Amino acid sequence: MHWVGWEKVTKSKAEGGLGIQTAKGRKLAYLSKLNWRFHEEKNALWSQVLRKQYLFQRRLLSSNEKSLPSSRTWKALQKGRVVFNVGTRWSLGRDSDISFWFDSWTSEGPLRNIVHGPLTREEEELRVGDVASDIGWNWCKISMELPAKIYMEIKAMPHSRVSDEKDKLIWAATSNGEFNLVSAYKLATTQADFAPPFNGSWIWKLNLLPKIQTFIWMCLHKSIATRECLAKRGLQINPSCPLCCQHPESILHLLRDCPVASNVWHNLNPQSLTPAFFSQDLHTWLETNYKVVNNASLFLVPWHTLFSFGIWTIWNHRNKVVFQSRVPSPFIHQEVIQRVLEYFLYDQGNSLYKPRVLKMVRWERPYRGWYKLNTDGSAAVNPGVAGGGSVIRVDADLRINALEVDLDAKVIADLLNNLGSSNASNSSIVADCRLLVSRIPQVKVKHCYRESNSYADALAWLGSKMSPDFLFYSSPPPSLFSIYVSDLYGLYHSRLCPGPVVIPPF
Ligand SMILES: [Zn+2]
Repeated sequence: MHWVGWEKVTKSKAEGGLGIQTAKGRKLAYLSKLNWRFHEEKNALWSQVLRKQYLFQRRLLSSNEKSLPSSRTWKALQKGRVVFNVGTRWSLGRDSDISFWFDSWTSEGPLRNIVHGPLTREEEELRVGDVASDIGWNWCKISMELPAKIYMEIKAMPHSRVSDEKDKLIWAATSNGEFNLVSAYKLATTQADFAPPFNGSWIWKLNLLPKIQTFIWMCLHKSIATRECLAKRGLQINPSCPLCCQHPESILHLLRDCPVASNVWHNLNPQSLTPAFFSQDLHTWLETNYKVVNNASLFLVPWHTLFSFGIWTIWNHRNKVVFQSRVPSPFIHQEVIQRVLEYFLYDQGNSLYKPRVLKMVRWERPYRGWYKLNTDGSAAVNPGVAGGGSVIRVDADLRINALEVDLDAKVIADLLNNLGSSNASNSSIVADCRLLVSRIPQVKVKHCYRESNSYADALAWLGSKMSPDFLFYSSPPPSLFSIYVSDLYGLYHSRLCPGPVVIPPF
C-alpha cells in the first residue's frame, strides 16, 4: 500500500513533502540552466553556432517560428526558456539601456504588465537610464502612477552612479545573482496549488532520529497503518483499538487517548501535561509538544526528546501486540526512559561544547593622521523599509588622505577587501564603492563589533524611520548625543564572543 502520494512526496519539506525531485521538474531546471549558459557563454563555440543558425531577424519575425526545422538542442533551449525568463532579472548599470516598461528589472517582472492604459510612443521607448539620475529618480518622466511597493523597490535598487558598470542579467532567486539549480527546480514545479498549507517543516529542524522524524511526518499526513486509517482506505477490518478494544484506533487515540498510551504520558512527566495536552487536535498536539524546548524534565532531557521517544515506543509496542500477540504492558514508560537516556547521553557526547567568553569593546580612535568612517544599515523587517547611516569625525578641513572604514557586517567588509569576489546582484553599487575608495590614497576597510559601531547603528535606525531620502547632520542629533559622548570618552561595552572549541572528555 502506498501511504503517501507521489505528488505529496515530491513537494519541498516546507510544503509537507520529502523534497524528492520529479524527473520532469529536474529536466526543466537543467534546460533553464542551458539557457543561462547560452546567455553567459556568448563566445563559446556551441553558443556561436546556435546564434548563427537560429537567431537572425528573418527567422525571429516569422509567424511560424516554432514549426521551422531546428536541432534537438535548440528545441530543448526553447523548452527551458519559460523558467529562464521567470528566474532572471536585469541588474542596473550606469546609464542603463534596458526598457523601462518592457524588460524585467523589478520583482514584478515587466512593469507594463501591472499598469493599464496606453503608453505614448515616447514612453514606450523610455530607458531606465532616462529616469535614473545621480541624485535619485526622475519620476516626472513617467505619466502613470506605479504601485507604492514598486516605487519603494526601485528607490532601493542599486545602480552605478560613479563606476562604468554595464546592465547585467542576474538570477533573481539567489542572493548572489548566480544561477542555482535548486531555485530553478522550484520555479519549474511551482504551480497553482489549492491544497491547504502543511506547515510541517519544523519536523526536519529537530535533533531526532531520522526514523522518528519520518514517523511524525507520516502521522501528520494521517498515513500510519492504524486500523481506522486502514478501514478508511477500503480494507475490510475491525477498526477498534487492539490495545483497549473500546474505541476506533485513530492515530490520536493510539498515541495519546488510549488508556495504555495515557498511562505512559502520566508516568513520564506529569508536570508537562497541561489540560490542553489531552484535548488538542493531532497537528497542534504534535507541534506544541515539539516546540517545548526548555521544559527540561527527566535527567535534563528536553521534553520534545522524551515526547518523541514516547510516541515511537507506543507505536512499536502496539505493533508487537498486533503482530507478535504480546499482551499490552503497563510498563512502556520504563522502556521509553531507557531508550531516551541512551540516545541523549550518546548525542551529548557527540556534540562539541562551544563556550563563550566576555570581551570588552568600544569605539577606538583612529591613528594619528587617519580618519574613521563608521557605517551601518538597519531594517525593522526584511523585506521592508531600510535605512543607512554613516558617521565621520572630522575637523573643518575635509582633505582625507588616510581613512579607516569600520562596519559590523563582515560579509560587506570581505566583499570590499577582496577584489576577486563579486556579487552579481549588487555589483553596480560595489563597483561604485570600490572606485570611490580607490580615490583616497590610504584606505582600510575593517569589520568591527556592533557595540563599537553603535553610533552608525543608531543613525541607520533613525534613517529607516524618516521620510527624506537623505539627511546630513553637521553635529550629533539630540537623540544620539549620549552615544556620541560615550564614544568620545571611550566607554567600554561588554560582549559575549565565541571562545575556543573544546571537545569534552568521554
Ligand atoms: Zn485503545
